[in-house]
Amino acid sequence: MIPPPHGGVLVDRQLSASDAARRANEISRLPKLRPEVDQLFDAEKIAIGAYSPLEGFMDRRTIDSVLASSHLPNSLAWTLPIVLTPPGPANRRTIERVASGDDVALVDEHDRPIALLHLREKFPFDRKAFALSTYGTLDANHPNVADLAQTGETALSGEVDLVLRRQLPGGPFELTPAETRATFARRHWSNVAAYQTRNVPHRAHEHLQKLTLEREEIDGLFIHPVVGRLKTGDYRSEIVLRAYETLIRHYYPPERVVLASLSIAMRYAGPKAALFLAIVRKNFGCSHYIVGRDQAGVGSFYDPYDSHRIFDELPVGITPIRYREAFYCRTCEGVTSFKACPHPADERIDTSQTKIRQSLRDGSPIPPELLRPEIRALLASGVPILNDLPGRAPRLIETGVPEGEGTGLPPDLSEPVLADRP
Ligand SMILES: [Zn+2]
Repeated sequence: MIPPPHGGVLVDRQLSASDAARRANEISRLPKLRPEVDQLFDAEKIAIGAYSPLEGFMDRRTIDSVLASSHLPNSLAWTLPIVLTPPGPANRRTIERVASGDDVALVDEHDRPIALLHLREKFPFDRKAFALSTYGTLDANHPNVADLAQTGETALSGEVDLVLRRQLPGGPFELTPAETRATFARRHWSNVAAYQTRNVPHRAHEHLQKLTLEREEIDGLFIHPVVGRLKTGDYRSEIVLRAYETLIRHYYPPERVVLASLSIAMRYAGPKAALFLAIVRKNFGCSHYIVGRDQAGVGSFYDPYDSHRIFDELPVGITPIRYREAFYCRTCEGVTSFKACPHPADERIDTSQTKIRQSLRDGSPIPPELLRPEIRALLASGVPILNDLPGRAPRLIETGVPEGEGTGLPPDLSEPVLADRP
């Protein structure tokens, strides 16, 4: 069955358009804080229920509980703190003059109020404790640890209400948990397997997705790429989404797949992030969660199979579907794994994303055993594929999948996949 949300109730803290319009004057006079875009994504995800049962940014007691025990104070498993720490001097001045009980507007880079914060508590943000517990390291080579140096020194807690749902990086693919749950119900799906990714799909990804579709107990596959702020060298969001549309159109039964995007910051916290991402997908209505090798890992910071084991240590009400590393074997003539293939390593085609990205950069060929030709063609169409901008600069792709002249993209392909979107 479609599982209940984490904690039992789907949080909905979105102001109706009429409420937001009625209160516009009042909201415009509130003190303003301008968080980093990652934390605006979080405010939005709290309000639409993606982070149920959270109703707001965490207070000190909740953060301490999550860091110490991977549980909320109410004993529900939860692995990553969700914090509000607006940076910089202007925010600091505002933070100094607001107090518990005040309402504060969280605004974007254009000063538009995105959410209201009902301030409960402000307290020093202990970056070191946060990094050590969440990422297991203080090494600035870890991208999220490096980001922490830019956050504010004071954390604020309190419930949030969403005022404006912006055009998010996934554009029309950005669905709410209520929308995906309705879609699954309309398709009469009970058991839905979620697939987490940030990448253009290669043949090994396809293999894992199809193994999942072959399972008797699985009614549908929910492909849900994370499309938040990008690191240098990441695939651009619209490329990932367009590649999946292409793959689904040519190689999948569309009535068994839903493609949507999830605009959040990617936390490379290894097993803790894998579990967090699974809880989020449970809130979107998924009963099963696909966990590959080193999910949500980065570099060599985590044991590649800790992300498998954490699902036994902290059951969260979603069933993991665990897969070992898959590769193409020339002798087997197909994608397989160590569990099924006895052939030596030099028979295998390396399916690492690093290698694909390198080939894209230097123009060397990518064999069809690694990438479907339709996806190779998309990547070769002259559209910018990788995010080459440094560090924290690029962020939002405000319009989602671009259309019209100059993009070089084929005509819109979203209809067959998303025909029954709400
Ligand atoms: Zn083999």
